Amino acid sequence: MSTAKVNLLGLSPAKMEAFFADLGEKPFRARQVLKWVHHRGVIDFDAMTDVSKALREKLADVAEIRPPEMLSQADSKDGTRKWVIRVGENSMVETVYIPEGERGTLCVSSQVGCSLDCSFCSTGKQGFQRDLSAAEIIGQVWLANNSFNSFGTTKGRAVTNVVMMGMGEPLLNFDNVVDAMILMMDDNAYGISKRRVTLSTSGVVPALDKLAAVSEASLAISLHAPNDELRNQLVPINKKYPIAELLRSAYEYIGGQSDTRRVVTVEYTLIAGVNDQPAHARELAQLLADFPCKINLIPFNPFPGSGYERPSRNAVQRFWESLTKAGFVVTVRKTRGEDIDGACGQLVGNFQDKTRRSERYKQQLGKNNDEQVVRIIND
Ligand code: SAH
Ligand code: SF4
Repeated sequence: MSTAKVNLLGLSPAKMEAFFADLGEKPFRARQVLKWVHHRGVIDFDAMTDVSKALREKLADVAEIRPPEMLSQADSKDGTRKWVIRVGENSMVETVYIPEGERGTLCVSSQVGCSLDCSFCSTGKQGFQRDLSAAEIIGQVWLANNSFNSFGTTKGRAVTNVVMMGMGEPLLNFDNVVDAMILMMDDNAYGISKRRVTLSTSGVVPALDKLAAVSEASLAISLHAPNDELRNQLVPINKKYPIAELLRSAYEYIGGQSDTRRVVTVEYTLIAGVNDQPAHARELAQLLADFPCKINLIPFNPFPGSGYERPSRNAVQRFWESLTKAGFVVTVRKTRGEDIDGACGQLVGNFQDKTRRSERYKQQLGKNNDEQVVRIIND
């Protein structure tokens, strides 16, 4: 009976070294294989020409390099590309690539569904199915680069930035997300600078408290409300870990007083009539007055049955102005890839239902489509 082969795609450099040590091989073998896979996109051991034939044969016996299966790819008219990736019999996740000038940001999923049930998020409405493996997470970066044929080119790779803002709560899949982020940042793999890899969390405070010891990635927190009463309704995990604890944990994550260069990105999804009023902006400015951050406003992206609406362009502008006048750096996230259901909060990985979903979105979005304001995912 054959045992399952180890998928080397998701092994962090330390785990790859341990794997080769078990085979009686030196650590440099780990670096060689990492480079073949993540620099050049090579997944066939036979093509790894600087590895001896005997070792290649041994590797083929006990290991494999298996990217996740891409089910479909859709291109938006604005250049955004979305992949539906199969991660099991009936499980799908989505990955979205957003080009902007020299930058190519990949929005990566960490779980199938999500257990945290934020009231305005379609992934949350789907419930939780399972965690992605490290291979399935880093595999999204591999697939994106492969899809743009950008492995081994002199121009550089297509993915210059990664945001863990796809489906799922990354801090609830801690070990696999950390391993995948290490690969994103490691020079023998993707070599993306720590400034350009961002983990977004809705506030799993105990996990965030542990993160600094193992990762230097940038941090975004999904705040969405200036007080606990409102946040309890929008982000239920706030009942367990309220705003003050989240801000304390995030502040410590970026080094607190000992590192004044780092800031936290505060994400604030603006929902019409719920959290987008002038009083909310004033309260938010007070709450964050001494907190080292930039604020990213995300106009709510509607989905069927959400019961919420996107705020008007004026409401977004007013909110932005109020915070800017209070001295904050504030960006408004431009909605990208809407025509392929690729915008924030629209990811559900429901492949079969997609066509009908698109139609419903179009009806809902029709009147608001020109309300795309300024810019930015992450700089
Ligand atoms: N679970 C993590 C990361 C995934 S969600 C988190 O919550 O931070 C990425 C971002 O999209 C979060 O800030 C989330 O609140 C926001 N978002 C979710 N649904 C949205 C929607 N329908 N419209 C706009 N933003 C949404
Ligand atoms: Fe989960 Fe984030 Fe969606 Fe909340 S916003 S349900 S944490 S994916």
